[in-house]
Amino acid sequence: MLKRLGIVGFGASAIGFINGLIESGKVKDYRITVLERGKDYSHNTISGVRMDGKIFISHGMGGEIYIPLEIQAKTVEFYLKFSGYTPTVDKRVGIVNYLKSFERDGRKIEFGESFSDEEIYKRFYHHGFEPVKSYFFHLGTDILKETNKNIYEYFSSFENIEFLFGTTVEDVEFGPPHRVHTNRGDFEFDELVIAVGRSGHRLMERLKEKYPQLVRPNQFVDIGVRYELPNHVMDPFSDMYEVKVRYRTKTGYICRIFCQNPAGKVTLEKYEDFTTVNGYSDSLHKTENTNFAILVTTRFTEPFKDPTGYGVNLAKLANILAGDKEKVILQTYGDFKEFRRTKRLGRVHPTLDSESYILGDANLVFPSKIRESLVDFVENLEKVIPGASYFDNLLYAVEVKFYTNKFLNDIVEGLHVVGDCSGWTRSIQYATSMGYMRAVGMKIQSL
Ligand SMILES: Cc1cc2nc3c(=O)[nH]c(=O)nc-3n(C[C@H](O)[C@H](O)[C@H](O)COP(=O)(O)OP(=O)(O)OC[C@H]3O[C@@H](n4cnc5c(N)ncnc54)[C@H](O)[C@@H]3O)c2cc1C
Repeated sequence: MLKRLGIVGFGASAIGFINGLIESGKVKDYRITVLERGKDYSHNTISGVRMDGKIFISHGMGGEIYIPLEIQAKTVEFYLKFSGYTPTVDKRVGIVNYLKSFERDGRKIEFGESFSDEEIYKRFYHHGFEPVKSYFFHLGTDILKETNKNIYEYFSSFENIEFLFGTTVEDVEFGPPHRVHTNRGDFEFDELVIAVGRSGHRLMERLKEKYPQLVRPNQFVDIGVRYELPNHVMDPFSDMYEVKVRYRTKTGYICRIFCQNPAGKVTLEKYEDFTTVNGYSDSLHKTENTNFAILVTTRFTEPFKDPTGYGVNLAKLANILAGDKEKVILQTYGDFKEFRRTKRLGRVHPTLDSESYILGDANLVFPSKIRESLVDFVENLEKVIPGASYFDNLLYAVEVKFYTNKFLNDIVEGLHVVGDCSGWTRSIQYATSMGYMRAVGMKIQSL
Protein backbone atom coordinates (compact mmCIF):
# COMPACT_ATOMS: atom_id res chain seq x y z
CA MET A 1 0.00 0.00 0.00
CA LEU A 2 1.21 3.53 -0.77
CA LYS A 3 2.27 5.68 2.18
CA ARG A 4 0.40 8.94 2.54
CA LEU A 5 2.79 11.90 2.42
CA GLY A 6 1.67 15.46 3.11
CA ILE A 7 3.80 18.44 2.08
CA VAL A 8 2.87 21.77 3.61
CA GLY A 9 3.98 24.66 1.36
CA PHE A 10 5.19 24.64 -2.23
CA GLY A 11 8.37 26.73 -2.14
CA ALA A 12 12.06 26.00 -2.64
CA SER A 13 12.44 23.32 0.02
CA ALA A 14 9.30 21.44 -1.05
CA ILE A 15 10.57 21.51 -4.63
CA GLY A 16 13.88 20.03 -3.45
CA PHE A 17 12.08 17.36 -1.46
CA ILE A 18 9.82 16.24 -4.29
CA ASN A 19 12.73 16.26 -6.72
CA GLY A 20 14.72 14.11 -4.27
CA LEU A 21 11.89 11.57 -4.12
CA ILE A 22 11.70 11.47 -7.91
CA GLU A 23 15.44 11.15 -8.46
CA SER A 24 15.84 8.42 -5.84
CA GLY A 25 12.87 6.47 -7.20
CA LYS A 26 11.12 6.63 -3.80
CA VAL A 27 8.28 8.63 -5.29
CA LYS A 28 6.50 5.44 -6.35
CA ASP A 29 6.05 4.43 -2.69
CA TYR A 30 3.91 7.46 -1.83
CA ARG A 31 0.62 9.16 -2.45
CA ILE A 32 1.63 12.79 -2.17
CA THR A 33 -0.60 15.75 -1.31
CA VAL A 34 0.86 19.26 -1.47
CA LEU A 35 -1.06 21.77 0.66
CA GLU A 36 -0.23 25.31 -0.44
CA ARG A 37 -1.80 28.49 0.82
CA GLY A 38 -1.30 30.40 -2.47
CA LYS A 39 -4.22 30.27 -4.86
CA ASP A 40 -2.18 28.59 -7.61
CA TYR A 41 1.39 27.55 -8.44
CA SER A 42 2.39 31.14 -9.22
CA HIS A 43 1.51 32.40 -5.74
CA ASN A 44 4.44 31.13 -3.77
CA THR A 45 7.61 32.88 -2.65
CA ILE A 46 9.74 31.53 -5.46
CA SER A 47 7.55 33.37 -7.98
CA GLY A 48 7.50 36.50 -5.83
CA VAL A 49 7.81 39.62 -7.95
CA ARG A 50 10.49 41.05 -5.70
CA MET A 51 12.53 37.86 -5.74
CA ASP A 52 15.95 38.39 -7.21
CA GLY A 53 16.49 34.84 -8.41
CA LYS A 54 20.14 34.58 -7.49
CA ILE A 55 21.28 31.08 -6.72
CA PHE A 56 24.60 30.66 -4.96
CA ILE A 57 27.06 27.85 -4.60
CA SER A 58 28.92 28.43 -1.39
CA HIS A 59 29.82 27.07 1.98
CA GLY A 60 28.77 29.14 4.93
CA MET A 61 26.44 31.42 3.02
CA GLY A 62 22.73 30.77 2.91
CA GLY A 63 22.32 28.37 5.77
CA GLU A 64 23.82 26.74 8.82
CA ILE A 65 24.02 23.20 7.56
CA TYR A 66 26.65 21.48 5.50
CA ILE A 67 25.57 20.99 1.90
CA PRO A 68 28.15 19.14 -0.24
CA LEU A 69 29.20 21.11 -3.30
CA GLU A 70 27.96 18.42 -5.69
CA ILE A 71 24.46 18.72 -4.22
CA GLN A 72 24.60 22.50 -4.55
CA ALA A 73 25.68 22.15 -8.18
CA LYS A 74 22.81 19.74 -8.80
CA THR A 75 20.36 22.28 -7.38
CA VAL A 76 21.66 25.01 -9.68
CA GLU A 77 21.46 22.64 -12.66
CA PHE A 78 17.87 21.77 -11.73
CA TYR A 79 16.76 25.43 -11.66
CA LEU A 80 18.67 26.28 -14.84
CA LYS A 81 17.02 23.45 -16.74
CA PHE A 82 13.55 24.34 -15.54
CA SER A 83 14.20 27.97 -16.47
CA GLY A 84 14.73 27.03 -20.12
CA TYR A 85 18.54 27.14 -20.08
CA THR A 86 20.54 24.40 -21.78
CA PRO A 87 24.24 23.51 -21.42
CA THR A 88 26.62 24.19 -24.30
CA VAL A 89 29.47 21.98 -23.07
CA ASP A 90 29.54 18.67 -21.22
CA LYS A 91 30.41 18.01 -17.59
CA ARG A 92 33.98 16.94 -18.33
CA VAL A 93 34.99 20.63 -18.38
CA GLY A 94 34.36 20.73 -14.62
CA ILE A 95 31.09 21.38 -12.85
CA VAL A 96 31.35 25.18 -12.57
CA ASN A 97 32.40 25.62 -16.22
CA TYR A 98 29.55 23.33 -17.20
CA LEU A 99 26.97 25.37 -15.24
CA LYS A 100 28.43 28.64 -16.55
CA SER A 101 27.92 27.45 -20.10
CA PHE A 102 24.11 27.30 -19.84
CA GLU A 103 22.30 29.50 -22.37
CA ARG A 104 18.77 30.58 -23.10
CA ASP A 105 17.84 32.15 -26.47
CA GLY A 106 21.54 32.54 -27.23
CA ARG A 107 22.21 34.40 -23.97
CA LYS A 108 24.57 33.01 -21.36
CA ILE A 109 23.43 32.74 -17.76
CA GLU A 110 24.62 35.71 -15.71
CA PHE A 111 27.41 34.36 -13.56
CA GLY A 112 29.69 35.77 -10.88
CA GLU A 113 32.44 34.47 -8.65
CA SER A 114 33.85 35.97 -5.51
CA PHE A 115 37.57 35.87 -4.87
CA SER A 116 38.28 34.34 -8.27
CA ASP A 117 41.34 36.61 -8.47
CA GLU A 118 44.07 34.68 -6.66
CA GLU A 119 45.97 37.85 -5.78
CA ILE A 120 42.97 39.40 -4.08
CA TYR A 121 42.17 36.16 -2.31
CA LYS A 122 45.73 35.93 -0.98
CA ARG A 123 45.80 39.55 0.10
CA PHE A 124 42.70 39.09 2.26
CA TYR A 125 43.96 35.77 3.56
CA HIS A 126 47.37 37.22 4.41
CA HIS A 127 45.78 39.96 6.51
CA GLY A 128 43.84 37.49 8.62
CA PHE A 129 40.52 37.56 6.79
CA GLU A 130 38.63 34.46 5.88
CA PRO A 131 37.43 35.07 2.32
CA VAL A 132 34.21 33.18 1.62
CA LYS A 133 34.32 31.83 -1.93
CA SER A 134 31.05 31.69 -3.78
CA TYR A 135 29.61 31.41 -7.27
CA PHE A 136 26.31 32.92 -8.23
CA PHE A 137 23.90 32.31 -11.06
CA HIS A 138 21.30 34.97 -11.72
CA LEU A 139 18.12 33.54 -13.22
CA GLY A 140 16.35 36.88 -13.27
CA THR A 141 13.12 37.92 -11.62
CA ASP A 142 11.20 37.83 -14.90
CA ILE A 143 12.08 34.19 -15.56
CA LEU A 144 11.13 32.82 -12.14
CA LYS A 145 7.40 32.63 -12.81
CA GLU A 146 8.11 30.44 -15.80
CA THR A 147 10.57 28.33 -13.79
CA ASN A 148 7.91 27.72 -11.21
CA LYS A 149 5.31 26.83 -13.82
CA ASN A 150 7.63 24.33 -15.50
CA ILE A 151 8.47 22.67 -12.18
CA TYR A 152 4.80 22.52 -11.21
CA GLU A 153 3.83 20.96 -14.55
CA TYR A 154 6.60 18.38 -14.27
CA PHE A 155 5.57 17.35 -10.75
CA SER A 156 1.87 17.32 -11.73
CA SER A 157 2.64 14.84 -14.48
CA PHE A 158 3.08 12.18 -11.76
CA GLU A 159 -0.34 10.76 -11.09
CA ASN A 160 0.40 10.13 -7.40
CA ILE A 161 1.21 13.81 -6.74
CA GLU A 162 -1.75 16.13 -6.17
CA PHE A 163 -1.75 19.85 -5.41
CA LEU A 164 -4.35 21.52 -3.21
CA PHE A 165 -3.95 25.26 -3.62
CA GLY A 166 -5.77 27.79 -1.47
CA THR A 167 -5.21 25.48 1.51
CA THR A 168 -3.77 27.06 4.64
CA VAL A 169 -2.50 24.74 7.31
CA GLU A 170 -3.54 26.11 10.68
CA ASP A 171 -2.35 23.44 13.06
CA VAL A 172 -0.68 20.04 13.16
CA GLU A 173 -0.67 17.20 15.66
CA PHE A 174 2.38 15.09 15.24
CA GLY A 175 1.91 11.32 15.10
CA PRO A 176 2.32 9.22 13.15
CA PRO A 177 -0.23 9.44 11.79
CA HIS A 178 0.20 13.21 11.56
CA ARG A 179 -3.03 15.18 11.70
CA VAL A 180 -3.17 18.40 9.71
CA HIS A 181 -5.91 20.97 10.22
CA THR A 182 -6.57 23.36 7.35
CA ASN A 183 -9.15 25.92 6.29
CA ARG A 184 -10.50 23.20 3.99
CA GLY A 185 -10.77 20.37 6.47
CA ASP A 186 -8.50 17.87 8.17
CA PHE A 187 -6.00 15.44 6.68
CA GLU A 188 -4.04 12.49 8.00
CA PHE A 189 -0.60 11.46 6.76
CA ASP A 190 1.95 8.76 7.53
CA GLU A 191 4.78 11.17 6.70
CA LEU A 192 4.73 14.93 6.79
CA VAL A 193 6.99 17.60 5.31
CA ILE A 194 6.67 21.09 6.75
CA ALA A 195 8.13 23.58 4.28
CA VAL A 196 6.31 26.84 4.95
CA GLY A 197 9.28 29.23 4.75
CA ARG A 198 9.40 32.47 6.68
CA SER A 199 5.90 33.42 5.68
CA GLY A 200 4.66 30.41 7.63
CA HIS A 201 5.90 31.86 10.93
CA ARG A 202 2.44 31.79 12.52
CA LEU A 203 2.16 28.04 12.09
CA MET A 204 5.75 27.56 13.23
CA GLU A 205 5.27 29.64 16.38
CA ARG A 206 2.28 27.50 17.23
CA LEU A 207 4.22 24.27 16.70
CA LYS A 208 7.19 25.51 18.72
CA GLU A 209 4.88 26.36 21.59
CA LYS A 210 3.19 22.97 21.44
CA TYR A 211 6.36 20.95 21.00
CA PRO A 212 9.19 22.78 22.83
CA GLN A 213 11.19 19.54 22.94
CA LEU A 214 11.64 19.85 19.14
CA VAL A 215 13.22 23.30 19.32
CA ARG A 216 16.89 24.01 19.90
CA PRO A 217 17.33 27.21 21.90
CA ASN A 218 19.13 29.94 20.03
CA GLN A 219 22.37 31.31 21.50
CA PHE A 220 23.31 33.88 18.88
CA VAL A 221 22.58 37.40 17.80
CA ASP A 222 24.55 39.49 15.28
CA ILE A 223 24.92 43.14 16.21
CA GLY A 224 26.62 45.95 14.36
CA VAL A 225 26.19 48.83 11.97
CA ARG A 226 25.28 49.58 8.39
CA TYR A 227 28.41 51.06 6.85
CA GLU A 228 28.35 53.42 3.88
CA LEU A 229 31.26 54.54 1.73
CA PRO A 230 31.86 55.93 -1.78
CA ASN A 231 31.42 53.48 -4.67
CA HIS A 232 34.97 54.10 -5.88
CA VAL A 233 36.39 52.44 -2.77
CA MET A 234 34.63 49.19 -3.64
CA ASP A 235 35.10 49.47 -7.45
CA PRO A 236 38.18 47.20 -7.55
CA PHE A 237 35.93 44.39 -6.27
CA SER A 238 32.96 45.09 -8.52
CA ASP A 239 33.20 41.76 -10.35
CA MET A 240 32.39 40.01 -7.07
CA TYR A 241 28.76 39.95 -6.11
CA GLU A 242 29.73 40.57 -2.53
CA VAL A 243 33.01 40.88 -0.64
CA LYS A 244 32.10 38.20 1.82
CA VAL A 245 34.70 37.99 4.58
CA ARG A 246 34.99 37.05 8.22
CA TYR A 247 37.62 38.24 10.65
CA ARG A 248 38.54 37.31 14.20
CA THR A 249 38.99 40.67 15.92
CA LYS A 250 41.24 41.37 18.86
CA THR A 251 38.34 40.85 21.26
CA GLY A 252 37.96 37.28 20.04
CA TYR A 253 34.61 38.09 18.45
CA ILE A 254 34.07 37.24 14.79
CA CYS A 255 33.10 40.17 12.62
CA ARG A 256 31.79 39.93 9.06
CA ILE A 257 30.55 41.86 6.06
CA PHE A 258 26.98 41.07 5.14
CA CYS A 259 24.46 42.18 2.51
CA GLN A 260 26.51 44.49 0.31
CA ASN A 261 24.63 46.92 -1.92
CA PRO A 262 26.69 48.61 -4.63
CA ALA A 263 25.32 52.04 -5.62
CA GLY A 264 22.59 51.30 -3.10
CA LYS A 265 20.59 52.94 -0.38
CA VAL A 266 20.37 52.64 3.37
CA THR A 267 16.89 52.09 4.70
CA LEU A 268 15.10 51.61 7.99
CA GLU A 269 13.72 48.31 9.19
CA LYS A 270 10.76 49.01 11.39
CA TYR A 271 9.56 46.60 14.04
CA GLU A 272 6.59 47.13 16.30
CA ASP A 273 8.44 49.09 18.97
CA PHE A 274 11.94 49.70 17.65
CA THR A 275 13.80 50.46 14.43
CA THR A 276 17.04 49.16 12.97
CA VAL A 277 18.90 49.77 9.69
CA ASN A 278 19.26 47.77 6.52
CA GLY A 279 20.26 48.37 2.89
CA TYR A 280 19.18 47.55 -0.64
CA SER A 281 20.13 48.30 -4.21
CA ASP A 282 17.66 49.41 -6.75
CA SER A 283 18.44 48.55 -10.38
CA LEU A 284 16.95 51.86 -11.59
CA HIS A 285 18.14 54.41 -9.05
CA LYS A 286 21.87 54.14 -8.57
CA THR A 287 23.57 56.18 -5.87
CA GLU A 288 27.20 57.17 -5.40
CA ASN A 289 27.58 55.04 -2.26
CA THR A 290 27.97 51.37 -1.45
CA ASN A 291 26.59 50.05 1.80
CA PHE A 292 27.01 46.82 3.74
CA ALA A 293 26.45 45.59 7.25
CA ILE A 294 29.37 45.02 9.59
CA LEU A 295 28.15 42.51 12.12
CA VAL A 296 29.67 41.11 15.28
CA THR A 297 28.48 37.63 16.16
CA THR A 298 27.65 37.40 19.84
CA ARG A 299 27.05 34.07 21.45
CA PHE A 300 25.61 33.61 24.89
CA THR A 301 25.77 30.59 27.14
CA GLU A 302 23.96 29.68 30.36
CA PRO A 303 22.43 31.25 32.35
CA PHE A 304 21.59 33.98 29.80
CA LYS A 305 18.94 32.74 27.43
CA ASP A 306 17.71 35.76 25.54
CA PRO A 307 20.11 36.86 22.75
CA THR A 308 17.19 38.28 20.80
CA GLY A 309 16.21 40.46 23.77
CA TYR A 310 19.81 41.65 24.00
CA GLY A 311 19.76 42.79 20.35
CA VAL A 312 16.33 44.37 20.68
CA ASN A 313 17.41 46.37 23.72
CA LEU A 314 20.51 47.74 21.99
CA ALA A 315 18.36 48.76 19.04
CA LYS A 316 15.92 50.46 21.42
CA LEU A 317 18.76 52.26 23.15
CA ALA A 318 19.87 53.71 19.79
CA ASN A 319 16.27 54.82 19.11
CA ILE A 320 16.06 56.45 22.55
CA LEU A 321 19.29 58.36 21.92
CA ALA A 322 17.97 59.37 18.50
CA GLY A 323 14.92 60.77 20.28
CA ASP A 324 12.34 58.73 18.39
CA LYS A 325 11.54 55.04 18.13
CA GLU A 326 11.60 55.42 14.33
CA LYS A 327 15.04 57.01 14.09
CA VAL A 328 18.58 55.69 14.13
CA ILE A 329 21.98 57.19 14.91
CA LEU A 330 24.31 58.32 12.14
CA GLN A 331 27.97 58.98 12.82
CA THR A 332 31.14 59.33 10.79
CA TYR A 333 33.60 56.52 11.26
CA GLY A 334 36.30 58.96 12.40
CA ASP A 335 34.10 60.40 15.14
CA PHE A 336 33.05 56.93 16.23
CA LYS A 337 36.67 55.87 16.49
CA GLU A 338 37.59 58.97 18.47
CA PHE A 339 34.57 58.88 20.80
CA ARG A 340 33.15 62.16 19.50
CA ARG A 341 29.57 62.90 18.70
CA THR A 342 29.19 63.73 14.99
CA LYS A 343 28.01 67.26 14.44
CA ARG A 344 28.95 67.68 10.81
CA LEU A 345 29.24 65.24 7.92
CA GLY A 346 32.12 65.15 5.43
CA ARG A 347 32.34 64.09 1.81
CA VAL A 348 30.08 61.06 2.03
CA HIS A 349 26.40 61.98 1.74
CA PRO A 350 23.92 59.71 3.51
CA THR A 351 21.46 57.86 1.30
CA LEU A 352 19.03 57.44 4.19
CA ASP A 353 16.58 60.33 4.22
CA SER A 354 17.38 63.02 6.79
CA GLU A 355 14.07 62.49 8.64
CA SER A 356 15.19 59.01 9.66
CA TYR A 357 18.43 59.70 11.54
CA ILE A 358 20.02 61.94 14.14
CA LEU A 359 23.72 62.77 14.07
CA GLY A 360 24.98 61.25 17.30
CA ASP A 361 27.42 58.99 19.05
CA ALA A 362 26.99 55.23 18.68
CA ASN A 363 29.59 54.75 21.44
CA LEU A 364 26.74 55.34 23.86
CA VAL A 365 24.94 52.32 22.43
CA PHE A 366 27.46 49.54 22.03
CA PRO A 367 29.06 47.59 24.87
CA SER A 368 32.83 48.06 24.60
CA LYS A 369 33.51 44.53 23.38
CA ILE A 370 31.28 45.09 20.37
CA ARG A 371 32.56 48.61 19.81
CA GLU A 372 36.20 47.48 19.88
CA SER A 373 35.42 44.64 17.48
CA LEU A 374 33.83 47.04 14.98
CA VAL A 375 36.77 49.45 15.04
CA ASP A 376 39.34 46.66 14.82
CA PHE A 377 37.49 45.21 11.84
CA VAL A 378 37.38 48.50 9.92
CA GLU A 379 41.05 49.25 10.68
CA ASN A 380 42.06 45.87 9.31
CA LEU A 381 39.72 46.17 6.35
CA GLU A 382 41.64 49.29 5.39
CA LYS A 383 44.71 47.08 4.77
CA VAL A 384 42.90 45.17 2.05
CA ILE A 385 40.37 47.78 0.86
CA PRO A 386 42.10 51.18 0.85
CA GLY A 387 39.53 53.81 1.76
CA ALA A 388 37.49 51.50 3.98
CA SER A 389 38.40 53.58 7.04
CA TYR A 390 38.06 57.12 5.59
CA PHE A 391 37.26 59.51 8.40
CA ASP A 392 33.99 60.56 6.79
CA ASN A 393 32.61 57.11 5.92
CA LEU A 394 29.26 56.69 7.58
CA LEU A 395 27.96 54.27 10.12
CA TYR A 396 24.32 53.83 11.07
CA ALA A 397 23.43 52.20 14.38
CA VAL A 398 22.22 49.65 14.93
CA GLU A 399 21.82 46.76 12.59
CA VAL A 400 20.76 43.47 14.15
CA LYS A 401 20.35 40.03 12.65
CA PHE A 402 18.22 37.74 14.72
CA TYR A 403 18.54 33.99 14.49
CA THR A 404 15.42 31.87 14.58
CA ASN A 405 15.20 28.86 16.84
CA LYS A 406 16.11 25.70 15.04
CA PHE A 407 13.77 22.79 14.61
CA LEU A 408 15.14 19.37 15.41
CA ASN A 409 14.37 16.72 12.84
CA ASP A 410 14.84 13.01 13.65
CA ILE A 411 12.82 13.07 16.88
CA VAL A 412 9.32 12.54 15.54
CA GLU A 413 8.96 9.60 13.20
CA GLY A 414 8.08 10.53 9.63
CA LEU A 415 8.43 14.27 10.17
CA HIS A 416 10.63 16.52 8.02
CA VAL A 417 10.82 20.23 8.79
CA VAL A 418 12.82 21.71 5.93
CA GLY A 419 13.86 25.07 4.51
CA ASP A 420 13.70 28.48 6.16
CA CYS A 421 10.94 27.52 8.60
CA SER A 422 13.32 24.98 10.15
CA GLY A 423 15.71 27.81 11.06
CA TRP A 424 18.58 26.03 9.28
CA THR A 425 18.42 27.81 5.88
CA ARG A 426 17.90 31.26 4.42
CA SER A 427 18.38 30.91 0.65
CA ILE A 428 16.93 29.15 -2.37
CA GLN A 429 20.04 27.00 -2.61
CA TYR A 430 20.11 25.81 0.98
CA ALA A 431 16.34 25.38 1.28
CA THR A 432 16.11 23.35 -1.93
CA SER A 433 19.16 21.25 -1.10
CA MET A 434 17.99 20.59 2.44
CA GLY A 435 14.65 19.32 1.08
CA TYR A 436 16.50 17.16 -1.43
CA MET A 437 18.86 15.67 1.16
CA ARG A 438 16.03 14.82 3.57
CA ALA A 439 14.09 13.12 0.78
CA VAL A 440 16.95 10.95 -0.40
CA GLY A 441 17.91 10.14 3.19
CA MET A 442 21.30 11.88 3.38
CA LYS A 443 22.52 12.85 6.83
CA ILE A 444 22.45 16.61 7.39
CA GLN A 445 25.08 18.11 9.66
CA SER A 446 24.99 21.52 11.25
CA LEU A 447 27.89 23.90 10.58
C1 LIG B 1 12.10 39.53 -1.62
C2 LIG B 1 12.96 38.31 -1.45
C3 LIG B 1 14.01 38.08 -2.33
C4 LIG B 1 14.81 36.95 -2.18
N1 LIG B 1 15.81 36.76 -3.06
C5 LIG B 1 16.58 35.64 -2.95
C6 LIG B 1 17.60 35.37 -3.91
O1 LIG B 1 17.81 36.09 -4.87
N2 LIG B 1 18.36 34.24 -3.73
C7 LIG B 1 18.15 33.38 -2.69
O2 LIG B 1 18.86 32.38 -2.59
N3 LIG B 1 17.18 33.59 -1.79
C8 LIG B 1 16.39 34.70 -1.89
N4 LIG B 1 15.40 34.91 -0.96
C9 LIG B 1 15.19 33.90 0.11
C10 LIG B 1 14.45 32.69 -0.46
O3 LIG B 1 13.26 33.11 -1.07
C11 LIG B 1 14.12 31.71 0.64
O4 LIG B 1 15.27 31.45 1.41
C12 LIG B 1 13.58 30.38 0.08
O5 LIG B 1 12.51 30.60 -0.80
C13 LIG B 1 13.16 29.48 1.24
O6 LIG B 1 12.50 28.35 0.76
P1 LIG B 1 11.38 27.63 1.66
O7 LIG B 1 10.92 26.44 0.94
O8 LIG B 1 11.88 27.47 3.03
O9 LIG B 1 10.19 28.68 1.76
P2 LIG B 1 9.38 29.40 0.62
O10 LIG B 1 10.07 29.30 -0.69
O11 LIG B 1 9.06 30.73 1.18
O12 LIG B 1 8.04 28.54 0.51
C14 LIG B 1 7.10 28.46 1.54
C15 LIG B 1 5.72 28.19 0.95
O13 LIG B 1 4.84 27.85 2.01
C16 LIG B 1 3.59 28.49 1.83
N5 LIG B 1 2.95 28.60 3.15
C17 LIG B 1 3.31 29.38 4.20
N6 LIG B 1 2.53 29.17 5.26
C18 LIG B 1 1.65 28.21 4.90
C19 LIG B 1 0.59 27.55 5.59
N7 LIG B 1 0.29 27.83 6.86
N8 LIG B 1 -0.13 26.62 4.90
C20 LIG B 1 0.16 26.32 3.61
N9 LIG B 1 1.17 26.93 2.90
C21 LIG B 1 1.91 27.85 3.55
C22 LIG B 1 3.95 29.83 1.22
O14 LIG B 1 2.85 30.35 0.48
C23 LIG B 1 5.11 29.45 0.30
O15 LIG B 1 4.70 29.10 -0.99
C24 LIG B 1 14.57 36.04 -1.11
C25 LIG B 1 13.49 36.25 -0.24
C26 LIG B 1 12.69 37.36 -0.40
C27 LIG B 1 11.51 37.56 0.53
